[in-house]
Amino acid sequence: MNENNIREVIIVGGGTAGWMAAAALSRYLNNGYTTVTLIESEQIGTIGVGEATIPPLISFNELLGINENDFVRATQATFKLGIEFVNWGRLGDRYFHAFGELGKDFQGLPFHQLYLRERSRRPMPEITSWSSSAAAAVRGKFARPGQKAQFPLDQLRYAFHLDATLYARFLRAFAERHGVRRIEGKIVDVKLRSNDGFVEAVTLANGQSIAGELFLDCSGFRGLLIEEALQTGYEEWTQWLPCDRAIAAPCRYSGNPDPFTRATAHRSGWQWRIPLQHRMGNGHVYCSSFISDEEAERVLVSNLEGELLDSPRRLRFTTGRRKLAWNRNVVTLGLSTGFVEPLESTSIHLVQAGIARLLAMFPDRRFNPLERDEYNRQIQQQFEWVRDFVILHYKAMQRDDSEFWMQCAAMDIPDTLAEKIAHFRNKGRFFAEGVELFPRQSWVEVMLGQNIIPEGYEPVVDGLDEDKVAHGLEQLRLAYMDLAERLPTQAQFIASCCAAEGFQVAPEFAL
Ligand SMILES: Cc1cc2nc3c(=O)[nH]c(=O)nc-3n(C[C@H](O)[C@H](O)[C@H](O)COP(=O)(O)OP(=O)(O)OC[C@H]3O[C@@H](n4cnc5c(N)ncnc54)[C@H](O)[C@@H]3O)c2cc1C
Repeated sequence: MNENNIREVIIVGGGTAGWMAAAALSRYLNNGYTTVTLIESEQIGTIGVGEATIPPLISFNELLGINENDFVRATQATFKLGIEFVNWGRLGDRYFHAFGELGKDFQGLPFHQLYLRERSRRPMPEITSWSSSAAAAVRGKFARPGQKAQFPLDQLRYAFHLDATLYARFLRAFAERHGVRRIEGKIVDVKLRSNDGFVEAVTLANGQSIAGELFLDCSGFRGLLIEEALQTGYEEWTQWLPCDRAIAAPCRYSGNPDPFTRATAHRSGWQWRIPLQHRMGNGHVYCSSFISDEEAERVLVSNLEGELLDSPRRLRFTTGRRKLAWNRNVVTLGLSTGFVEPLESTSIHLVQAGIARLLAMFPDRRFNPLERDEYNRQIQQQFEWVRDFVILHYKAMQRDDSEFWMQCAAMDIPDTLAEKIAHFRNKGRFFAEGVELFPRQSWVEVMLGQNIIPEGYEPVVDGLDEDKVAHGLEQLRLAYMDLAERLPTQAQFIASCCAAEGFQVAPEFAL
């Protein structure tokens, strides 16, 4: 063993972020000399929301060796093929942001360019008619593609809807099985080293002091170490993402769980609808300058589909990011790093992205600033990519029935996003710097879905025979429809391999 290796990692916080980190470290630092300790306070609790995910979570499970069916069963999860947006763009509009590919690229040309030319010649169905995930989602269907899947099933991509509390519990069991030590207690003091300001130890309410070399701050919005102790600073993005509150309320639900999240725009924000095996998760995200908490709650409750299962919970947040995700010997994960509101379900992914980078740049006891700086650069980039994608939904609003949306449509946006929109408006082009989290297909679906219609298309497309392209597009569309018709319903699929106890398939959805 290298004498400079880290021996004590302390994780502060046992929400989704803390337990994801603990699970991953328990697996990867299983070297016999690094101990991982997690401190959490039941009295403080966790945020208890965060139920929709995006596809990379599949690889997190794989890396940890977690069996997906066990995970789905334990977290009352369902499968998610994308997000249905209702009343975004214009009131009455409806579109899908589906995971996975759109059609088939042809001779190096992105599929959507062929679609755009065709659309300039005749009325066309929405572009997600060329998506396996969307075709399955709108029909309530799901099947796992598997490694040997043939076209078009091989293009289907999925993520999960899960119960946040059960997920933390599941990861905790995993991490403890792999040697993570858990300490229950409330941290009341943070001791800094006098010579360099590194965190030396945390003190619990019972007086116990817990020392460490590397500290992971997973303490939620407050940033117990990164902000309260190290005063790192926070960059706010509220000028672009003005929603600052949410009310969450689960309700009863039965039937075939829709394999998608629904995001419905209201007058001063939007409502999520997340089907789980045992209930429906709902929440209203809104801007407090435009609507009172009471009114926001009334809007939420009046838009529920079933009996309320718990009293509505009110939450406050400020969109933005910590100026440094890694400062001295403290690395943040989760809400302590920052928060982009949940419209595209990205927070859990940002935890995963942070863990992956931490493992790739894991420090030793000398804490070379090179690793820290690279980590901070990459995390900033991840956050900004997500930020721009979410702002797009707010900016591309044409609703004139509410002051809130009119202000969003009129706002200035980051240059990085303005350039993307301008290229798309011009000839439907999409350029990315590096491999962005949301691929071209996602941008195309949201831009077209919210009526950013390109003025032209890639001129090289005109070199392709019009009739052949039209015929090819039609054949493809039928292939996606045919696939979706043949798949089982989500309820049937869950019942076949990963149903939690008590999951019931309504007769009309049974095999
Ligand atoms: C309205 C809303 C909706 C969301 N929806 C989604 C979504 O659909 N998808 C998604 O990916 N993400 C979503 N998120 C984000 C998601 O909830 C979080 O990213 C995720 O739960 C991680 O939270 P966390 O672990 O960082 O913080 P928390 O859950 O707040 O955990 C903090 C932990 O720190 C502990 N702690 C704090 N102070 C102390 C102390 N003094 N002593 C000891 N322990 C302490 C707490 O006890 C707790 O264990 C949403 C967030 C909000 C606000």
